[in-house]
Amino acid sequence: MSDVNTPIKNPEVKFTQIFINNEWVDSVSGRTFPTINPATTEKITLVQEGDKADVDKAVAAAKEAFKLGSPWRRMNASDRGRLLNKYADLLERDLQYICSLETLDNGKPYHTSIGDLTFAIKVIRYYAGWADKNTGKTIPVDGDFFCYTRHEPVGICGQIIPWNYPMLMYSWKFAPALAMGNAIVIKPAEQTPLTCLYAASLVAEAGFPPGVVNVVPGYGPTAGAALTAHPDVNKVAFTGSTEVGQIIMQASGASNLKRTTLELGGKSPNVIFPDVDIDKVVDFANDAAMTNMGQCCIAGSRTYVHEDIYEEFVKKTIERAKKRTVGDPWTKVENGPQIDEEQFNKILGLIKAGQEDGAKLECGGGRHGDCGYFIQPTVFSDVTDNMRIAREEIFGPVQSIFKFKTMDEVLERANDTSYGLAAAIFTNDINTAMTYTQGVKAGTVWVNCYEVVNAQAPFGGFKMSGLGRELGEYGLSQYTEVKNVVIKIPEKNS
Ligand code: NAD
Repeated sequence: MSDVNTPIKNPEVKFTQIFINNEWVDSVSGRTFPTINPATTEKITLVQEGDKADVDKAVAAAKEAFKLGSPWRRMNASDRGRLLNKYADLLERDLQYICSLETLDNGKPYHTSIGDLTFAIKVIRYYAGWADKNTGKTIPVDGDFFCYTRHEPVGICGQIIPWNYPMLMYSWKFAPALAMGNAIVIKPAEQTPLTCLYAASLVAEAGFPPGVVNVVPGYGPTAGAALTAHPDVNKVAFTGSTEVGQIIMQASGASNLKRTTLELGGKSPNVIFPDVDIDKVVDFANDAAMTNMGQCCIAGSRTYVHEDIYEEFVKKTIERAKKRTVGDPWTKVENGPQIDEEQFNKILGLIKAGQEDGAKLECGGGRHGDCGYFIQPTVFSDVTDNMRIAREEIFGPVQSIFKFKTMDEVLERANDTSYGLAAAIFTNDINTAMTYTQGVKAGTVWVNCYEVVNAQAPFGGFKMSGLGRELGEYGLSQYTEVKNVVIKIPEKNS
């Protein structure tokens, strides 16, 4: 019996091709692309590079699988749930291997990969339970008619995955889509295709009919764009940058008005009132900003601290950040490397901008070590609202601390952003908490906690942080069309 807590430090890469119709194929173009280990910057392997021609093949396979009368369309909803549970069993069986592959390809510490996969499996089981429970209604319309609604699958869904939580974001898209009976074409991020490809290898073993799940690794502007422009794709679900989200929405609209759900960036405010246990909240706020190396759309990247505790809070935050362990992701460190050279340079550039704009660099600020894309945990104090580090998503281990005086002021400043993904408040005063939860514009608000995300509750953004909700019952509506059926009857009685 394998011990999941012990990583396989050099996991064999078993799948690098494109997965269509439950079979592995090479790219039509014959091209491949490298995937890199961000802890060492060494190439792990070459992966088949899908583009438009491969997306066309995958969409055709999904279309065939979704035809009326196909095994997938004829399957009992409860059996779709059973397949999802079987799939979750297989992920559990191979947990140690998949978590090891995730750490190799993404760089996140191994124990974090276990956390991601555990959550991913919960999401799949949660939606497995919904497969036969998302019912329509009978509606008492006027006249001699019988009226009911059916919640039908949308059809062919394109699903574009980011690199920061490869398997977790895969599960958020894969599970509700299949529970509701759709057929899917997934494009993993080019930085992290390996776990998604391994997960594809379990699709046939679980018993999903050919063509229901297809995975096309490749780049965004080629494979991703082909999915979003494809006239036979009925829905696209995307997680990634707001900039690309806007491109995707345009392509969805211009092609065939695809149903479009977007989970985009954030600049989430974390507001600390003085009536708290400072040591505890310093810890929470540090984690909020730096979990997953700060590569987290809900990162608490703006820490607003009340003036009465500001000096003490900043001092303790610096001590905490200096203790944050960074290094070899196969060990029990808190932070591994950033995902790639581009993100590494972008983060260092924003740290420089913070200094140039006049924020006080309290600790960190540079590269950690001399190999891999590691960045020191970085804290800025005296940050003001118009600095670039206050406005742009850094997506790195950088905590920016702002000082505030009153609730009215901090609410206005918290909302002064184009984003609205998450927000938090730390206080022991119920009225302070309630004023904030109602006034702040964000898809999730945490009180005295941070980053509590569950399969059962909705996740998504206000404003430019996204469109639609994933997870929970709310997530189901993104994968169904409501059909209203009206039948003439001889005589209606109450
Ligand atoms: P990105 O938005 O470019 O990539 C996310 C996914 O979209 C990848 O699968 C990519 O291949 C695909 N993609 C890219 N261009 C596309 C296009 N034109 N059409 C269709 N698909 C396309 O993210 P990035 O460039 O890797 O990272 C840039 C920034 O995005 C980060 O610094 C961070 O701020 C943000 N980001 C946010 C999240 C999140 O969870 N919200 C995740 C990743 C990145």
